Amino acid sequence: MAQIYDRVALIGLGLIASSMFWAMKRAGVAGEVTGYARSSETRDVAREIGLCDRVCDSAAEACAGADLVVLCVPVGAMGAVAAEIAGALKPGATVSDVGSVKKAVIEAVAPHIPAGVHFVPAHPLAGTEHSGPRSGFAELFDNRWCLIVPQEGSDRAAVEQLERFWQALGSNTDEMDAEHHDLVLAVTSHAPHLIAYTMVGVADDLRRVTDTEVIKYSAAGFRDFTRIAASDPTMWRDVFLNNRQATLEILGRFTEELFALQRAIRTGDGDHLHAYFTRTRAIRRGIIEAGQDTAAPDFGRATKA
Ligand code: NAP
Repeated sequence: MAQIYDRVALIGLGLIASSMFWAMKRAGVAGEVTGYARSSETRDVAREIGLCDRVCDSAAEACAGADLVVLCVPVGAMGAVAAEIAGALKPGATVSDVGSVKKAVIEAVAPHIPAGVHFVPAHPLAGTEHSGPRSGFAELFDNRWCLIVPQEGSDRAAVEQLERFWQALGSNTDEMDAEHHDLVLAVTSHAPHLIAYTMVGVADDLRRVTDTEVIKYSAAGFRDFTRIAASDPTMWRDVFLNNRQATLEILGRFTEELFALQRAIRTGDGDHLHAYFTRTRAIRRGIIEAGQDTAAPDFGRATKA
C-alpha cells in the first residue's frame, strides 16, 4: 500500500497507540513512526518490543517534523498533552486523537492548536479490556468503525487523508459531529460499561453467594460483564467525567426501563417481558448481520489470541 504520511507521532503508548503502530507497519502507510509515553517504564517496554521506529524522551521531540500527531492518552489528559506539544508542531501537520469522548476533548485541545496546523479529531470504535504497550495487535481495527469528527472550517484534504489512513489500518470510516458522537457512544458503549461495572460490583457485594461461587458458576451472562468491567479504570473514569450529559441522559432512560421490567416481574406480566426480549434479540441479530460481532456462542474467543 502507498505511504499516506511520511512521519507519524504517537503520544501515549498504550493499547490503541500500539495497535495503530502494528497496523501501520502491516499496511506500510507511514514512513517513520515516533512515539512518546510519560513514564520511562512504558518507554523502556516500547523500546524492548520494537514499538515505534524511534521512542523519544519528550513529547515535543516525538512531534518535531511529524506530518500526523495522534494523541493516544486518556480523555482527561488530552488538553495538557496538547499544550505540551503545541510549540513543536510542524506547519501543515495534522493533529488527531483517539479519545472515546469528542466534545470535551475538542474543547480541551483546540485552543492549543497553532494556526496552520489541522486538528481532525477521531475515535476508533475498537478496543479490549487490556491496556498498556504490550496489549496492542495489528488486527484491532479490522472491520471496525473509526468516526472522524471534522471541525468547522477543517481542511477537506487533511480530513480525507486521515480517513484514508484509518481505512488502511483496517477500519471503515464515517464522519459525525461531536455532540452526536457523544450521544451515540453513550448508548453503545459508555452506559453499557457503567452497567457492567455496577453488575459486577453488586455481585461482589452479595455475601450469600461466595466469591468462589461467583467465579466458578459465571459461565453465562456474568462472565461477559466481568470482561467489560475489567476495562482500564483511568480511561473509564475520564469517559464518564467528560461525557457527563449524554451518559446521564441514557442512564435515566435505562433506569426507567429497568423499573418497568422490575414491575413486569412483580406483577407477573409475561407478555411485557416476552415482547421486550423479542425486541432486544432482533438488535443482536442486526449487529451480527452488520458484521460487527460473531454469532459463535463464545463470541469467537476460542479462535482469537
Ligand atoms: P492505555 O493502554 O491505558 O494507555 C494510555 C497511555 O496514556 C499510556 O501510554 C499512558 O502513559 C498515557 N497516559 C496516561 N495518563 C496520562 C497523563 N495523565 N498524561 C500523559 N499521558 C498519560 O489506554 P488506551 O486504551 O490506549 O486508551 C487511549 C485513548 O484511547 C483514551 O483516550 C481512550 O478513551 C481511547 N480509546 C480506548 C479504547 C479502549 O477500548 N481501550 C477504544 C477506543 C478509544 P504511561 O504508560 O507512561 O502511564
